[in-house]
Amino acid sequence: MIYSTMPLSNHRFNHKIKHALEARETQGLYRQRACLSRADQSVYHQGASLLNFSSNDYLGLAQDPTILSAWQEGLTLFGAGSGASPLVTGFHSAHKTLEDQLADWLGYDRALLFNSGFSANQAVLFTIPDKHDVLIQDKLNHASLMEAGLLSPATMRRFAHNDLSALTRLLHQTNDKSPSINPLVITEGVFSMDGDLSPLATISEQCSQHDAWLMVDDAHGCGVLGDKGRGSCDLAGVKADILIVTFGKAFGLSGAAVMCNNDTAEYLIQFARHFIYSTSMPPSQAHALSAACRLIQSDDWRREKLHDLGHLLFENVESSIQLVDTHTPIKPLIIGDSHKALSVSNALKAKGLWVSAIRPPTVPVNSARLRITLTAAHTEQDIRRLATTLNEVINDE
Ligand SMILES: *Cc1c(COP(=O)(O)O)cnc(C)c1O
Repeated sequence: MIYSTMPLSNHRFNHKIKHALEARETQGLYRQRACLSRADQSVYHQGASLLNFSSNDYLGLAQDPTILSAWQEGLTLFGAGSGASPLVTGFHSAHKTLEDQLADWLGYDRALLFNSGFSANQAVLFTIPDKHDVLIQDKLNHASLMEAGLLSPATMRRFAHNDLSALTRLLHQTNDKSPSINPLVITEGVFSMDGDLSPLATISEQCSQHDAWLMVDDAHGCGVLGDKGRGSCDLAGVKADILIVTFGKAFGLSGAAVMCNNDTAEYLIQFARHFIYSTSMPPSQAHALSAACRLIQSDDWRREKLHDLGHLLFENVESSIQLVDTHTPIKPLIIGDSHKALSVSNALKAKGLWVSAIRPPTVPVNSARLRITLTAAHTEQDIRRLATTLNEVINDE
């Protein structure tokens, strides 16, 4: 039997989609993927070679020969896909080795692997707190944490970015309401769009005073900060109850791990649906991640180089340019207006530099920016070229 349907173009969904796209366009918020090819630190787009200042590959590991050959070796040793989810037959020796290595390096009982930071955050926020609990998040936390918080059974409260007195107020309110509510405080170690750090030492103290658990998403700090790249918590001298590390940034690969105590890991294995019902990452990838983890610990020079390149950039941009000096490889240049941020980004592109404009809703309204990121694979010459080009382009605007 053949069902008659409305002509496709008249369907209500088509109208809705077309309308939403038009609105995005007029607001200067239309997003497009650029199809790139890549070698070294350059990206190739529409026939041009552009120097990339927008990747999160902070330590320059994504193209490192050691990592590439580790992945190839992993393929020979373990084959292509993992074949199943971890509780079926998808948990292999390469996964176990990586988990043990991460736990040992970061000082936790356990590490539990996930396919992405996005799913790790959902897994934790959907399963640890109950309906009577309260999640307290920094307002600038990553979209994956906000989304997970909204969908979690718990009530979500948010405090102004890095505002400790606002956090204290929320903790007091929660404790006053019922002493049996244990809040879960969630912050990033390094904020991805601003490159600033959260005051983890004070936050951790506040959490102990109010019997709250602390969860730190250290996607941008792990590998980059702290002794042997252990991250933001190590730098601040604190241990979070739950630490999220992601492998798409400084590790140069992809995936994530939840660092926690034994019971929490066992609990997540029983109840976290993102863990239970998702095919585990290829064991060859876990093998490559183990190699990345070793390089992160041994190669202090990568962190030292990032530091030096950051200095060099600031020495060479004109003081009229409002580039934010940070302790991380993320150097935001706040422009404000979305259209203008886009036009500056395009002007840089025309001069051979890839610097993405980041616009709302990724960042607050009127704070569109260029998010400049440095990597250990950049050269001093690359940084001088960035500074010179910024000086030209920004002064022209
Ligand atoms: C990138 C990022 C994530 C998401 O991690 P993926 O592995 O890319 O899914 C989560 N949290 C923060 C803070 C991030 O920057």
